[in-house]
Amino acid sequence: VGVLNILIKDILAVLPGGAEVCSVYVSDGVITSTSSLPEGFKADKTIFGAGKMLIPGLVNAHTHAAMTIFRNCADDLLFNDWLFGKIMPLEDKLIGEDCYWGTLLAVMEMLRSGTTAYIDMYYFADDSARAIIESGIRCVFSRGIAGDISVVEGKLRDATDEIDRLKGHDKLSFMLGPHAPYTCDEGFQREVAAEAKRRGIPINIHLSESLAEIDTIRDQYGCSPIELADRTGLLTDTSVAAHCVQLSDTDIGLLAERGVHVVTNPVSNLKLANGVAPVVKMRNAGVKVALGTDSAASNNSLNMFRDLSLLTLVHKGINHDALAISAREGFEMATKDGARAMGYSDLGEIKPGNIADLAILNLDCPNMRPVNDSVAALAYSANGSEVETVIVGGEVLMENREFLTIDRDRVFHEVDKTCERIGVSTLRTNIANKKQENMSP
Ligand SMILES: [Zn+2]
Repeated sequence: VGVLNILIKDILAVLPGGAEVCSVYVSDGVITSTSSLPEGFKADKTIFGAGKMLIPGLVNAHTHAAMTIFRNCADDLLFNDWLFGKIMPLEDKLIGEDCYWGTLLAVMEMLRSGTTAYIDMYYFADDSARAIIESGIRCVFSRGIAGDISVVEGKLRDATDEIDRLKGHDKLSFMLGPHAPYTCDEGFQREVAAEAKRRGIPINIHLSESLAEIDTIRDQYGCSPIELADRTGLLTDTSVAAHCVQLSDTDIGLLAERGVHVVTNPVSNLKLANGVAPVVKMRNAGVKVALGTDSAASNNSLNMFRDLSLLTLVHKGINHDALAISAREGFEMATKDGARAMGYSDLGEIKPGNIADLAILNLDCPNMRPVNDSVAALAYSANGSEVETVIVGGEVLMENREFLTIDRDRVFHEVDKTCERIGVSTLRTNIANKKQENMSP
């Protein structure tokens, strides 16, 4: 493991202008050529591309990685029952070590399904950062904060101290994450916005996710969550706003005018019965929209292929328009547009000068034959299991489905232990018993 000079030879590559068979050269973590051999290039590693497809790594623009711990333990519930009834009481039981292992599990799931970068929001920044740095994945970590004006000073100090302490890593950067308008009051939002501006740290927030949120904020402030966030200064062209499901035309106009990066989470929004975000309307109004899974507690997967497929399908269906979001548009939202939300201008497309975050799919799968149209195959036929090798910044993190930086079985074991301790699963006992049965003569 380490940053290598890599030649990916004669592979079907999904380039900005279309898919073609070519050779891709990577030096010092950057794509140097997609055609001829660059001068002086010497490969440390050659990957032969026959029967394979090369794509820019997918960008999951909204998740809470450590919440893999809560997978399948709060299902078939409405949003408020899910969050306040189930998830928040469980979060009170977590310690930093849990977040370290939970984040590593999330990173494995993301790499395994072709995601090379993500925007996270959670607590325990030190433990999450340790997992991110050790694994080698790319991440913008948003330190989650919430409360009212009386606690904002202390919370901001803790968060910015953490950021100062943890910054300086090539693949890890930071945002401030005021959780949502219903957990951060107006004064709190104003102080966070002012501090973010002073320090040049972007904002990541949940906005207008459920109808209950719209009612709560309108009762309290007489406006929408988007209007409130705008008047507190949280909406700028580096801000990332997750969900944005329940929007008025005024809200959409504000998001466009301020240049906010919206992240749509189609699976999570449907599963929590929150609805479908007006993605087509937003895009037509000039709003930038990226794609995310949200956490494994509400999705219940971090597989971007599933969200990509649903994104393209659900908007065709509700708009009665087969072109509402094309395969190519959906794929760009899952790659380039997510990279822009992370603050990168040189990520999310396979072209010279861009950062080498890449995923290689093995096409020896019946569902990928014949390929015919590569981008349609990615949006409508692939399920993520095709991904076999993943490169982040010129570093191979998964090769032939083996994780090179993460001890998979140790992570499974530690996450099972956490689930047992916080009382969400008896599965480990079952697996252990089964193992014993198998071992007995
Ligand atoms: Zn979220």
